[in-house]
This record gives sequence, C-alpha cells and structure tokens, in this order.
Amino acid sequence: MPKIYFIDVTNRDGVQTARLGLSKLEKTMINMYLNDMGVYESEFGFPTTKHEILYLQANLELADMGVLQPIRLAGWIRATVEDVEQTFKWVPTIQHLNLSMSVSDQMINGKFHGKKNKRDILEMVAESVDAARSHGVTSIGLNAEDSSRADLDFVMEVASTAKQYGASRFRYCDTLGYETPFTIYESVKTVAKNVQIPIEMHCHGDLGMAVANSIAGAKGALDGGQDAYINTTINGIGERAGNADLVATVLAVTKAKGFASQYQLGQLIDLRMAWKTARFASYAFNVPIPINQPGVGANAFAHASGIHADGVLKDPENYELYSFTEVGRGEPEFVETGSRICSGEYSGISGFRHIMGQMAITFKDIDEAKRILDLVRYANVASQKPLVEDEIVFIAKYPQIAKKLLTLQP
Ligand SMILES: [Zn+2]
Repeated sequence: MPKIYFIDVTNRDGVQTARLGLSKLEKTMINMYLNDMGVYESEFGFPTTKHEILYLQANLELADMGVLQPIRLAGWIRATVEDVEQTFKWVPTIQHLNLSMSVSDQMINGKFHGKKNKRDILEMVAESVDAARSHGVTSIGLNAEDSSRADLDFVMEVASTAKQYGASRFRYCDTLGYETPFTIYESVKTVAKNVQIPIEMHCHGDLGMAVANSIAGAKGALDGGQDAYINTTINGIGERAGNADLVATVLAVTKAKGFASQYQLGQLIDLRMAWKTARFASYAFNVPIPINQPGVGANAFAHASGIHADGVLKDPENYELYSFTEVGRGEPEFVETGSRICSGEYSGISGFRHIMGQMAITFKDIDEAKRILDLVRYANVASQKPLVEDEIVFIAKYPQIAKKLLTLQP
C-alpha cells in the first residue's frame, strides 16, 4: 500500500520569502527539530549559493555524526548541468538533490523569451538528472515548476523523462496556488497512473487552499498507486501567501474525515514537537503565530462562549477535534518578569556563566567557557536577537560545527 511522507521546505522556500530570513544556526536548529519530529526530508538549502556552502557541509557532518539522522537533507538547484556540477564542486558529499525546471507555456515563454522550447526543456531535464546520477547521489527529485498551469501531457512527458534518467520522485508544483482540491486530485492521479513515479505535492496558499490541495493531491497519487510526498513549511512561511503549514498538514492527514484511518504514513510524525518547532520558527523568522493557527495558535484550544465552554468542560471532545497534549501543549511556561541576563553579541564571561549555570551546563575550565562565549557572540551577530536555550546548548555541544555555521567568507 502506498504511503504519505513529509518533506519540509522551510529552509528553502521559507527562507527565500521576501523580507524574511534565518541565520545558518537557526536553519540548523530547524533541521534538528524536523528530525526530532520524524519528518522524512528537509530541503535544507541552496548548494550553488556561496554563503550556504559551509552551512550545508556542517549539516551533512551532523548527519555523518548521527545527530541529524534519520532525516534526509536535500539540496535545491535549477535543473541544469551547470548547477549540478557547481553543487558537487562546493558540496561534494551531498546525497539528495531536487532539480527545478519551469514547465508551463507561460513560464517557458515568459522566462526564456523564445530561446527555449518544450524539446529544450525535456533535454535539460534529461541532461541534468543524468549528470546528478553520474555523481552517485542517493535520490533525485525533479521539480516541475508551475505544473498546475502547464499542459498535463507535457507535465507527464517531463515526469517520464526524469524517471527514465534516474529521478526517484516527481514534484508537482502548484507554484502560484492555482489548483483546487478537485482539479489537483485528478491531475496528480493521472500523472501517478501513467508515469508510475512517486509524486511530491508542492502547494501555495494564494487562494487559501495550500493544505487542502496538498492532501487532495496526495490522495490522487495514492489512488494512482504511488507514494505521496507532501511539501510543507513551518507556520506556512513561504513565497507570497506561503506554503502548506507543516503542523496543519500533518493534522489533516492524521485527523481529517476520510484520511485518519485510511492512509499510512511512511514515517511516524511526533506531533508533540509541534508547539516547540512552531514557536522556534516564529521567533527565528520574527513572525508571530496567528491566534487562529491550527494546533499551535493561541486560540486553537480556547473557549469562551457559554455553550462551547460548557460543552468542553463536560467533555473536551464536544468541541475539540484533537487534544492539546497531542501537539505538545499543556506544559506551563516560565516567563522571567524580573532581572534577566540574555545572550548578546557583546556578552561578557560573568553573564554568560550565569546563563549557562541556569541551563546546568558546566565547562572544564575558563578557557573552554571563553571559547564557547566567543561562538555565542558570533551567533548573536548573525541573528541579532538573544539565542534560545537550545541554540546555546547546541553551540556548547558541537563547537566545531557551530564555528563552521558562523563562518562567512565573502
Ligand atoms: Zn514554492
């Protein structure tokens, strides 16, 4: 029986969003949380972008060390031989690649201005997938940008060409959020049936249907006999109106009518990580979580009106579809309202030792403490806000990795 997997693209689609960004340490923490949560793959960045190189290498080292395991770390590039070759020059140990190519007439004509036709597109797909395969990568995904506005026969030609040259997955991109659950179900089922390749759903929220389209498309892939992979981002952060929200999509697949018991997940997701992960992304992106966000919004389990409150007090299931404990809520949170020492780029050793003491982290001598403090200062320069406890613990635990993450060489 085909299964549903989750591929989070926060560290690619999320960070390329206008006016938003993450430091390399924050991106690394996101990979750590996604791994703890049981997400199958993190699209962790851009191997042909210079300032990403050390971050990507450091995260691959964490994978080698068994820290970022079992999550897969996949790079995202354009489907050109040039990008593939550049990738293996700069990040030679990368094992998973997603190659992107525009497939709609609008984009082929609108981007290449008559310099490329559909034959050229198929050729570029064949050559780039072939080049990636010749480097011995474990998995190649072909991303068909703007699939939803493209001719479906051509989409299938692209998918089968990619498959023929060694791609293991095909990403059906609703780049502009143009689909509805009805249309995407039919299109994806048709591709799955005819091309027989596992399909990734990549949906955007321009019409407010990113999550609905993702699960409808996934159902199309499964009904077509293929595994489905759903692209998400934490808190739905992504280009324009955003992507399918990770927590909401996992909730939809595991709780929704007609889905809950019907489909199997390829990898179990620990939703108890939802609260922590969403809160960290919100802090790191500096974007508040909407009050009504599924699962993690402030009002997701709040009741005021008489009938609802009475109903919940008698039995929460009267008005709650799932329990707050399932998404990692319910623990009281400690907020310091008095004096507080934060980490900063100009922190000193005494404040730092105080912070570390509160986290019960000790150093073997003053030199070690100073070395870690130095790294924490650099991390603050990159993020321009106090680090969270997990970030400081990470730096203390993996100082060599942290040093790499904090190194930029323009
Ligand atoms: Zn996208």
